[in-house]
Amino acid sequence: MRDTEFFRSWMTAAAAAVEREADRLTELDSPIGDADHGSNLLRGFTAVRAALAADPATSPGAVLVLAGRTLISTVGGASGPLYGTLLRRTGKELGESAEVSDEELRKALYAGVGAVAQLGGAAPGDKTMLDALVPGVAALGTSYRAAAEAAQDGAQATVPMLARKGRASYLGERSIGHQDPGATSSALLLGALADTADATDTAEAS
Ligand code: ADP
Ligand code: MG
Repeated sequence: MRDTEFFRSWMTAAAAAVEREADRLTELDSPIGDADHGSNLLRGFTAVRAALAADPATSPGAVLVLAGRTLISTVGGASGPLYGTLLRRTGKELGESAEVSDEELRKALYAGVGAVAQLGGAAPGDKTMLDALVPGVAALGTSYRAAAEAAQDGAQATVPMLARKGRASYLGERSIGHQDPGATSSALLLGALADTADATDTAEAS
């Protein structure tokens, strides 16, 4: 079972990954966007860290709802409402239980990704974060590490795609040949989840 601390650790690990990779995310957003994806997420996850430190969010669901709400209110770009919706919807699905199973988390994330698709109107193949999130969540049934790897493969697979949603779609054919920044950050988010699960499972085994 995964407790509140697990979810706090996941969000902290995600914030650290965003901090580490912010420059690269912004670089990816330069040729097919407005060069702000790294700074958008850095601002958002810095605020998430502060919000979690200030708030005694006492359940897995409450941690994710708080993180999602914070992203929506602090990130101006398209990615803020989309990631905010992902976390808020996933948190709502988890409800108020003090501990959740891996299967409950898998189902909740599946619903969260569905909410992102509904909000943004995108589908896999449109060169967005969904190209990492959809295969990532599908692989959760295998393991958290498999999900992180599937998301990373999904992000790399956006390179030859033509963007059909978001700012990159304004470029038409010129969007081809570049990796999508949002798919790249989604792989970081699932990578942080896998790292958190590894750390927790190792601690429990020892
Ligand atoms: P903005 O495009 O407003 O500058 P960001 O640069 O922070 O916002 O985020 C861009 C990323 O958001 C894209 O790389 C893409 O993955 C994602 N994105 C944009 N529009 C959509 C959408 N409609 N559905 C899903 N993801 C989207
Ligand atoms: Mg941008």
